[in-house]
Amino acid sequence: MYSQNKINAFVKTNPILHEIMNAKPISWLNPEIQSMQNAPKFPINIGDMRAAEQLWARYAPFFIKAFPQTEESHGVLESPLREIANMKSLLETNNGEIEGRLFLKCDNELPIAGSIKARGGFFEIMSYAEKLALQSGLLKQDDDYSRLTSPKFQKFFSTYKIGVASTGNLGLSIGIISAKLGFQVTVYMSADAKAWKKDLLREKGVTVIEFDGDFSEAILIGREQTKTDPNAYFVDDEDSEDLFLGYTVGALRIAQQLKAQNIKVDADHPLFVYSPCGVGGSPGGTAFGLKQIDGDHVHCFFIEPTHCPAVLTGLVTGEMSHISVQDIGLDNITDADGLAVGRPSHFATKISQHLVSGVFTIEDEQLFQLLAQLKDSENIFLEPSATAGLIGPQRVQK
Ligand SMILES: *Cc1c(COP(=O)(O)O)cnc(C)c1O
Repeated sequence: MYSQNKINAFVKTNPILHEIMNAKPISWLNPEIQSMQNAPKFPINIGDMRAAEQLWARYAPFFIKAFPQTEESHGVLESPLREIANMKSLLETNNGEIEGRLFLKCDNELPIAGSIKARGGFFEIMSYAEKLALQSGLLKQDDDYSRLTSPKFQKFFSTYKIGVASTGNLGLSIGIISAKLGFQVTVYMSADAKAWKKDLLREKGVTVIEFDGDFSEAILIGREQTKTDPNAYFVDDEDSEDLFLGYTVGALRIAQQLKAQNIKVDADHPLFVYSPCGVGGSPGGTAFGLKQIDGDHVHCFFIEPTHCPAVLTGLVTGEMSHISVQDIGLDNITDADGLAVGRPSHFATKISQHLVSGVFTIEDEQLFQLLAQLKDSENIFLEPSATAGLIGPQRVQK
């Protein structure tokens, strides 16, 4: 908890905090941004990203067998990078010209789980399952991983438990893949979670525990209950290196997709990336990955709801994951369930503090407006969380 005096002191050094506390939509540029050359040594590097990509490759035969909808893509889970020129025109008629071309990374179309959480969430469980299977001697790294679908492995994994807290999408990703591998999996869902996400998980044999409270409450209890069990593993969205690493693989894929569309990224062609942000893991992993590849020619911005600016509050005050939006008097209530978190990820924020160019906040009303505009102009339908990035280009030019 922070005393009123302490909060007042934060506001005095950072007057923008006053507007953040009043849930005003703001644009903040990061004074601590570093060029990649001067950036401190990070806990992971491009080699780790490549290794993460290799883990995905080893699992491709598993995906083909376990999720036949991935057969056509040879067990690779990827989403298209689409130019949205009509949406760009529509935004321009309302708010002025946008320089360059506008693309949407359609992770809402990722197979099986339908959100960016499929990258981090699947990766963490795949990594854990592989470790268990290798240690037990049941699996070797050059085996065909489709054997992970066999009754022998189902039985083996069923002796282990997985726990995760979620506002919806992370639970969906972790629940689906864990249940498929045979784990006993429990998802601790905050009040934000949509009913259909909980129903779908129960259908797949996942135990769903519901909370009246927000994400902080769900994660606290989930963590406690899971950690008392020696055969249980907790996916900790507030501090996970594996989730982060899984997200970085998305950056490798974006780089390939840009190349395939003959789009250069260099000093004359900077790449601006605007990501919806909850705990900061998915936007942080994407930003870190892209900056490993294209360095200072990539500029990354995070967008958070005005009622849950978790990463922004951590960065502006310098308190990082110690402070929550509740500590500054916000209610952490939004219809963007994917972003409804009050405290940033410890692991991700330590990295993003040096790499993120800025953070913008957005009101729910505008999320819904963007959702409708994207549907009308491009016939693409997103959940509210996923539309937040669309305010980026016009905010950055102001
Ligand atoms: C979770 C989520 C985000 C934010 O990811 P964090 O790792 O929590 O920052 C963004 N968009 C969607 C659709 C999400 O589900």
